[in-house]
Order: sequence, then structure tokens, then C-alpha cells
Amino acid sequence: MSDDAPQYSFETLQIHAGSQPDPATGARQTPIYQNTGYVFRDADHAAALFNLQEVGFIYSRLTNPTVAVLQERVATLEGGVGAVACSSGHSAQILALLPLMSPGDNVVVSTRLYGGTVTQFSQTIKRFGWEAKFVDFDDKGSVSRACTKKTKAIFCESIANPGGYVTDLPAIAKIAERKGVPLIVDNTTATPYLCRPFEHGANIVVHSTTKYMSGNGTAMGGMVVDSGTFDWSASEKFPSLSQPEPAYHGLKFHETFGALAYTFHGIAIGLRDIGPCQSPQNAFQTLLGLETLSLRMERHCENAKKIATWLEDDDRIESVSYAGLKSSPSYRKGRKLCPKGTSGLFTFKVKGGYEACQKLVDNVNIFSHVANLGDTRSLIIHSASTTHRQLTEEQQEAAGAGPDVVRVSIGLENADDLIADLDQALTAALA
Ligand SMILES: *Cc1c(COP(=O)(O)O)cnc(C)c1O
Repeated sequence: MSDDAPQYSFETLQIHAGSQPDPATGARQTPIYQNTGYVFRDADHAAALFNLQEVGFIYSRLTNPTVAVLQERVATLEGGVGAVACSSGHSAQILALLPLMSPGDNVVVSTRLYGGTVTQFSQTIKRFGWEAKFVDFDDKGSVSRACTKKTKAIFCESIANPGGYVTDLPAIAKIAERKGVPLIVDNTTATPYLCRPFEHGANIVVHSTTKYMSGNGTAMGGMVVDSGTFDWSASEKFPSLSQPEPAYHGLKFHETFGALAYTFHGIAIGLRDIGPCQSPQNAFQTLLGLETLSLRMERHCENAKKIATWLEDDDRIESVSYAGLKSSPSYRKGRKLCPKGTSGLFTFKVKGGYEACQKLVDNVNIFSHVANLGDTRSLIIHSASTTHRQLTEEQQEAAGAGPDVVRVSIGLENADDLIADLDQALTAALA
């Protein structure tokens, strides 16, 4: 679409943003540029590209035409100025922190996070000399007190995986602003169709596009999206963005690229030197998925609400944790921050405990026993015997993954068929 296009709505942008008929062939669908290197016009052109004086394609670890369309589309859907695609959600989290952090720095993070993120933040980032301080984000005073001079970001999920906890983004954004650090929000579970963190004060959004964005369970991918609103030069906290960069002859990213400084840094330093680029094939799959994002999220939400309501009324179920139910402590925050629905992911407790949960996952027919989410297919997992197996029972409880808890990612099948499947599996599990 041209730059002077009117303000199109989400449903239009999810199909068109960032793409145009292929200039070489007229192909209407974005082609898969399965290609690594790009021919320079001449030696001056090559030098200008390497000096970041001109934008263009050099090598697919940095930029690729198919991946570039995906970056622009997701940036547009989130309402940001730019985005960096990468190989997975986990690489997106590392790339998001890299421009901000030096050894000895810390990031203040919510205790309610995807299990893999807890491991990445509590163990692996220590090897970079970075620290994550885990805090209960319902306790605003604790979030504020956890921030020190060495804090370079605050990190949380909009809708937290797995229990459907909704983070009070406007309140957390206010704390980040007072502390002079960016708020980074993992928007994987909500997607920009259900929640737009930039409208609630977030500065950076990260995604695992592996989940709802691609939507078919076929392509790994991650994304770092920049709102362009954070002033990197307002303090001395972010020298990588505000001070001369030795790797580019003393170029200052913020002074040179303005609102796009963080995005350019993510490509020119993050992807160049860490290297987790997204494959053009995966970018293509994800672009296909995005074309139907709004339709799928509507159905995921509708099905999840119907099934969660049925489970909550069933005698065999202890409780259901889903932000779309009035019984959830997150219900009101969900109405405010995700007015179209609170996604398709929730947990429930089965009265028979650990053993009944294992029998339940063994007896479902439509649901698949899978450690993924955001697929068209309905998925089920007993976290305590799988993804959260290495944790103590106390840690499992704290993570919302106690021995009697089952997590479901509700797909796009017929809701009544899914209810019938859970009904017969519960009967078998408790027989
Ligand atoms: C899956 C997931 C991740 C990690 O993404 P990968 O693509 O698997 O690396 C991060 N955050 C959330 C909320 C997730 O669901």
C-alpha cells in the first residue's frame, strides 16, 4: 500500500500491510525469496549499504524481502514504527534486551510468564552478566521498589500464559516511565487483534509468531516491535543507542535514525552479530496465517468462553482459570485491555488430581497432547508431568501448574464437539 493510504482497519491491514505486487513479476502473493545474497549496483552502493547510509538488501542474516514484508505487517498491526523478525519467540526476547543491557544490568520481570521464559531469564541470561528480578506485578509497590539504577527494562506478558492472567499494563507503564526505562510486553497470547500494548503505554512488544500469528502450528518465528516513542538519549542509561557505536565508525544510532534507532540496532547489531534470522519460508507461512488472524482470534475466544463456561458448571471440575469468566480476578482488566476477548488459552483443575489429569490427556480424541498453543487444532497438556516436571510442587503451584491442573489451547473446531470430547474423556478419567 502507498504511504498516503487512508487509515485502514485491522482486517484490511492484516492482509495488505507491507506487501505489494512483486515488482519483478507482478506476483500478487508475497514470493518466498529463498535467497542469501543480493547483487550490489556498484562498489559505491555496496559501501553505502555497509555504512548504513542507504537501506537495502545485503545478506539474508540481516534482511530478506519476504521477511521484510512480515516485519512491516506486524509493525503496522501493533501500531509501531518498525519490527525485527527473528527465528523464535525466545530469540526475540534476547534481541529485545540486547540494545538495552550491559553486564551487571537487570530487567524487572513478572512472575507470571511462559515457562520457557522463566528458565531463559532465571538461568541463561546470567551468562551475559544480566539479571532478571522476578516480582508479583499485582503489587505495584514491589515493581517500583525492584527498579534500581542498573534496571534497563520492565518485562511482562499482556495475557500471561498459562492461567489467563491479564497484566495491568497502564499501571506498569506508568512505573516504567517514572523509572526512565522501556516497558517490554510479550503479546503472544493476545496478538495485536485482541490487545495493542502500545495504546496502554508499552514501548516495545515481543512475539512468538510460532503461536496464533502463524496459527497452523507449522512455522517457528519471533518478532521485536518498536513503538518509536522511547527517548533513548534522555539519560545515560542506554549508551548502545545514544553514544557512538564502535562497530560503525562511531555512528550514534539514536541521533542518526531517530524513532527507528532501536529497530536499526536490532538488525545492524542484533541480527548481524547474534544471528537468529527468520527463514523466508517461515516468514511466508506466517504472512499466510496473519491474513486470517482476526477471524481466527474471534473464534478462538468464542470457543474458549463456551468451553470454559461448560467446565465451570461441571461437578468433576474444581475450578477454571480464564480471564473471560466473571469468576476470574482478571475479568475486569480483560474487559478493559482486551475488549474483543481474552484469547483461547486457559487452565482448569480436575477433582481427581494428578492421576485423573494424566488419564484425561490419554483419553481425549479431538484434543492433541502437545506442548504448543495457538494452533487451529485444540491442544491439551498436563503441565505437572511434562513442561513443569522439573519444578518442585511449590514452584508448580506458584506457576499455576499444580498437579491437578490441565492447560488447554482451544482451537477452531466446533465447540460442541470439543465439549463432547472433554465430557467423555473426563468420564473415562474418573471411572
Ligand atoms: C511460546 C512462547 C514463547 C517462546 O516462543 P518460541 O517461538 O517457542 O521460542 C514466549 N512467550 C510466550 C508467551 C510463548 O507462548
